[in-house]
This record gives sequence, structure tokens and C-alpha cells, in this order.
Amino acid sequence: MKVTIIPVTPFQQNCSLLSCEETGKAAVIDPGGDLDLILRRLEESNAVLEKIFVTHGHVDHAAGVAELSRRMAVPVEGPHHDDQYWIDALGEHGREYGFEWAEPFTPDRWLVQGDKVQFGNVIMDVHHCPGHTPGHVVYYHQAMKLAFVGDVLFCGSIGRTDFPGGDYETLIRSITQKLWPLGNDVQFVSGHGPVSSFGLERQTNPYVSDRELAKSGGWGLH
Ligand SMILES: [Zn+2]
Ligand SMILES: [Zn+2]
Repeated sequence: MKVTIIPVTPFQQNCSLLSCEETGKAAVIDPGGDLDLILRRLEESNAVLEKIFVTHGHVDHAAGVAELSRRMAVPVEGPHHDDQYWIDALGEHGREYGFEWAEPFTPDRWLVQGDKVQFGNVIMDVHHCPGHTPGHVVYYHQAMKLAFVGDVLFCGSIGRTDFPGGDYETLIRSITQKLWPLGNDVQFVSGHGPVSSFGLERQTNPYVSDRELAKSGGWGLH
């Protein structure tokens, strides 16, 4: 699988264009906006778009999903059903943030913990990681040891939990119980900012390093 990261929208949200080298099929994760730019990269890749995957219902990640799905006639998978209220509010939040293209949609498939998604010959595992939003999902490619974590975890930070439906303890649990077990050598693309690895974050992240969590009574398990 080939991965192209395309920062989109004024929020510089990391949309990912994935292509399957064996079949020439492609998928896009989190087309929040700048669809012309995404479609240009798709054209350059010579791959055919097969699916759209969504990590969560926030406007910078999901505002362009409806239009891209309609324009390319491809289905939408994810996030988890618990993010429905965010997706329903996309139009309203779009107007608030100046994302005039934002439109609600209904995914062709809601995802749950343990699901697998596929495009071309590429299969990724789905991990339900609530906390930033209740229906946030993470996509994990085992062979490449590469995770697409949206706004759950960043290089040096973690997702905000002050939105309606956010919860700090839940987010810490998602990170330590769903992401860390995948391995220290797993690299991740987050919703904003540079690529990092779980191992590096366990050493250096001021919110979720092993040292920091040990101080706060161990792994946020409450
Ligand atoms: Zn978000
Ligand atoms: Zn975001």
C-alpha cells in the first residue's frame, strides 16, 4: 500500500490517500475539504477510488465526505454510530467554521471494534477509540505497522476532550488499551501534524508517556 498525506482545510487536517499497488484501487481517509487537491493527487496516483473511510464526525475530517462520495460514486465506511450527532451537525458546524461545503451524510457502513475494512487487496483493522468523540475509529494496517489515528493521538499531544461527548479518561483508556498493544514500532498518521510512533510517544508525550501515566496512578484505568 502506498500512502500520500494531503493536508486539507484551514485546519491542515491530514487527509490520507491510500493506494493498493496490486489492484490500482484507492481509498481516502478523512476528506475534510479541498476536494480538487485530493482528486488531483488521486489522478497523479493513477489509482481508481473505491472507498472513503472516516475516523470521526468533526468538520475538518468529514465536511467533504458527502460531496466526494457523490462525485466519485463510492461508498463511505465509518465512523462508529456514536458519532452520528456530529455528522448530523456538519452543515451547522460548517457554517460556523467557514466550511461552506460541509454536508451531513449517512455512511454506507457504520463500524465497530474488531471490524475489518477493505479496498483493493488491502485490509485494515478497525479499533473503536472513543474519548475525543464517542464514535471515533482508528484504522490499522498490520503488515505496514501503520495506524491512522485521526484526533485520538498526536506527536507530542492528545485529542481535545472538551467538546460535547468528549471524555479525558475514556481517551486515555483508548490510547493505552487499544493503541499501545499494537506495538511500540507502530507508526501513526494523526489528524494534524507530523507522523510519529507509539514507542516515541510512550517515551516523550507529556500526556500519555509511561512515566506521566505512572505518576497519575497508572494507565488511567478508572
Ligand atoms: Zn476532531
Ligand atoms: Zn481534527
